[in-house]
Amino acid sequence: MRILVTGGAGFIGSALIRHLIGETGHQVLNLDKLTYAGVLSSLAPIDNSPRYRFVHGDICDAPLVARLIAEFEPDVIAHLAAESHVDRSIDGPGEFVQTNLVGTFNMLQQALGYWQGLDGERKAAFRFHHISTDEVFGSLGEEGYFTETTAYDPRSPYSASKAGSDHLVRAWGHTYGLPVLVTNCSNNYGPYHFPEKLIPLIIIRALAGEPLPVYGDGSNVRDWLFVEDHARALRAVFEGGVPGETYNVGGNSERRNLDVVKAICATLDRLSPRGDGRPYADQISFVTDRPGHDHRYAIDAAKIRDTLGWEPQVTFEQGIERTVRWFLDNRDWWGDILARRYDTQRLGLAKA
Ligand code: NAD
Repeated sequence: MRILVTGGAGFIGSALIRHLIGETGHQVLNLDKLTYAGVLSSLAPIDNSPRYRFVHGDICDAPLVARLIAEFEPDVIAHLAAESHVDRSIDGPGEFVQTNLVGTFNMLQQALGYWQGLDGERKAAFRFHHISTDEVFGSLGEEGYFTETTAYDPRSPYSASKAGSDHLVRAWGHTYGLPVLVTNCSNNYGPYHFPEKLIPLIIIRALAGEPLPVYGDGSNVRDWLFVEDHARALRAVFEGGVPGETYNVGGNSERRNLDVVKAICATLDRLSPRGDGRPYADQISFVTDRPGHDHRYAIDAAKIRDTLGWEPQVTFEQGIERTVRWFLDNRDWWGDILARRYDTQRLGLAKA
């Protein structure tokens, strides 16, 4: 297959591309604007492959996207490019509307023009796969799970922009017949995770001897999905999913934020103990909650399991161990980000 990946220099996009180049014979074209979150060194393990090509550009640039699609002739567009951090969406929602909504609209328009020009088998086989989040469903109480039919109820500028982009994708499927797929996944984590997100932030601040910020009382619950499991899920969906369908992707690993932080601390205590012999958990510090912080997200991933045979293979304990080890072994990767892009300071305290 020929796969155009947008946002392939990001956390999940780079994991998908490493998987596709490493484990399949597919060709990949990566279109990425290289915002603060785009890190080309995340692709170093595969970037000399003759099946991989990178183009620096913006998904909102219609002529560029049209030209790339015409030249590359993709079988699949895997659309991951987005502004992805809730805290940043609180500080600056405009970029989220531009990239996540206008950018997705542009990708759909260019994909539609290309698809309408195809015929026969290539037209029937083409897929536009939109990668989205479980945050579009809003917040759960202590019980229940999001399914593919849960009503949308986004609450942050980020989740609202992703919900809007999901609706655009479905509309292009219903109205124009574009063969679309949507996946809504839970919180990813793993190697090459940008340090603004909870798990890498805690690892890096712990090693620096700094306070480990836990929002509110730490009781908010998220489901955690190891990013390499997610990459396999995305491939299963665009290779075998039914056009027009949505698939929820989860890790079967619900944890309270405080327990996530404690698990990281305990792993670091084993793998890289503090010089003074004290536990890393001593650095935990409860801070002002995120404005509008959703209480709980949890995914029912039965559909993708029953119809496409995908299940997560990495448990939360295994995934945390692998992630902590990776950050310990790859200090150059994140040291460079801290020096040039983001210094782990608090974001997203709305001045309401
Ligand atoms: P990320 O922030 O790590 O990467 C986003 C990438 O998109 C970056 O490489 C960035 O340079 C690129 N990009 C941003 N604007 C662009 C533009 N206008 N044109 C081209 N490229 C642009 O994000 P991620 O964590 O890898 O998430 C990927 C996708 O998965 C997003 O759509 C996100 O909403 C979704 N998602 C992420 C998670 C998660 O836990 N990380 C969970 C659910 C869904």
